[in-house]
Amino acid sequence: MNVLVVEDERNLADAICRILEDAGYHAEACYDGRSGLISAKSGMYDVIVLDVMLPQISGFEIVHELRQEHVGTPVLMLTARTTTTDKVEGLDAGADDYMTKPFEAPELLARLRALTRRQGEVVLDEVSYADLTLDLSTHDLHCKDRSVHLSGKEFEVMSMLMSSTSRVVSKQDLLTRVWGTDGDTSENSVEAYVSFLRKKITHLKSDVHISTLRMLGYRLEVFPSNQDA
Ligand code: CA
Repeated sequence: MNVLVVEDERNLADAICRILEDAGYHAEACYDGRSGLISAKSGMYDVIVLDVMLPQISGFEIVHELRQEHVGTPVLMLTARTTTTDKVEGLDAGADDYMTKPFEAPELLARLRALTRRQGEVVLDEVSYADLTLDLSTHDLHCKDRSVHLSGKEFEVMSMLMSSTSRVVSKQDLLTRVWGTDGDTSENSVEAYVSFLRKKITHLKSDVHISTLRMLGYRLEVFPSNQDA
């Protein structure tokens, strides 16, 4: 699924793109209203994440112009402002949903999934790695004829690991993406959830293992288990 991110705060735009790519989407960023409007009109995207306050052309104007030209791509508007009039103005202009900054990765992903489902577009609804398949809508992890249900945080951790199979996912990345910026969570929580996931993967009799790389983080690896030999 292709996502266009229009946001002039480069750090935020790039962070959103990373969140989306880790979740298995393809994401591109535009950093101002004019290039955002041109890209949005191309019709190449399945969903658009659109900031309201942009240089040159505002997010409201962009969504208004898209709808006038009958471009129906779902739009999720982002704003730092929280007043009801902003929300009403965005929805009146033709946006499909509205999210206030700051937000956490799971909320962004959930809203995008809901938007693309509503449109009946082709949605990436599962991620696979070796003999494991994670259903992104039911949160069930399957291996051959077995399956287990993952809780909210287990699901977020597992989907990050499965979408980043080529590289290591650090504990810090997991903390930031899954738990957001709330400072109460420590790396112990990450370890606890990884341990829950290992138990579930063992129960599935999968050949996938969550390997710990000292000082680096975690990575999925495949080697046959001897547990039930
Ligand atoms: Ca902005």
